[in-house]
Amino acid sequence: MNIGFIGLGNMGAPMAKNLAAAGHAVSGFDITGATVPGVASAAGAQDAATGRDAVITMLPDGAILASVYAEIIPAAAAGTLMIDCSTVDVASARAAAAKAEAAGLRFLDAPVSGGTTGAEAGSLTFMTGGTEEAFDAARPLFDVMGQKAVLCGPAGSGQAAKICNNMILGISMIGVCESFALAEKLGLSAEALFDVVSTSSGSCWSVNSYCPVPGVGPKSPADNGYRPGFAAALMLKDLRLSQQAAADADAATPMGALAAKLYETFTGSDLQGRDFSAMLPWLRGQGHG
Ligand code: NAD
Repeated sequence: MNIGFIGLGNMGAPMAKNLAAAGHAVSGFDITGATVPGVASAAGAQDAATGRDAVITMLPDGAILASVYAEIIPAAAAGTLMIDCSTVDVASARAAAAKAEAAGLRFLDAPVSGGTTGAEAGSLTFMTGGTEEAFDAARPLFDVMGQKAVLCGPAGSGQAAKICNNMILGISMIGVCESFALAEKLGLSAEALFDVVSTSSGSCWSVNSYCPVPGVGPKSPADNGYRPGFAAALMLKDLRLSQQAAADADAATPMGALAAKLYETFTGSDLQGRDFSAMLPWLRGQGHG
């Protein structure tokens, strides 16, 4: 396919590179002028969207997505497949879909999980919203950039799935860190707690696959001085998006609200820039209060 790729940052650059390596003709644009080996440099966002079969965006937030779409929608040919892989609020995804569809384009919101290592390895998971027809047309691209793509429902459903998943993750990571911090103060070793919990009813991804204690469980950012991984600031972004969606939809998410507050305090501390599992050393520094 002839692909335009807009937003060549930590995630977008390796995704575009993998598409080019798989034999697609990729033209990329980033506002910083960033370039990617194997990817032609487009002169601007409009150029990246002109005459393409598909236009992929990987941008920081919904406001930037809206401004880029305002620029590129008039430039894209009818029927162009517009795939937004950024994590944005559900309302922005739905607005982007409405604008694209009104101009005769096909839209999918397709946020990812898997982080920069997944982007580099081509093993991302895509959570998508849109029509089955658009999803089927995009599948060969998802197969290059990822290992799994799920059509979750109409436009906006991919973003909804992403923020609901990450709300579970944020809440569960805090619970896990609280338990390991309490165990420490009770004189219970982290190894013993891991042994029990990882095969008991408290088991979850935050314990079993991403244990926040150095030297315990499979290798995780905790074993690397809490270098991200998944930066706490990105977790805070996603928790804020879920709070915004909950307010819009009048849904009760009291634990999600508290998780957002805790990550807000955490990212204002000297641990900012660390992985989200550094909630554990942050909690160690707090008393019962
Ligand atoms: P990033 O900041 O590294 O990349 C975003 C890129 O967009 C930057 O290079 C920026 O210069 C570019 N950009 C901004 N405005 C632009 C414009 N008007 N025109 C063209 N380019 C523009 O961020 P990232 O880590 O690559 O994340 C991208 C998206 O993926 C975000 O929505 C993020 O929440 C999501 N995400 C990130 C991760 C992760 O681990 N980094 C994981 C899952 C999802």
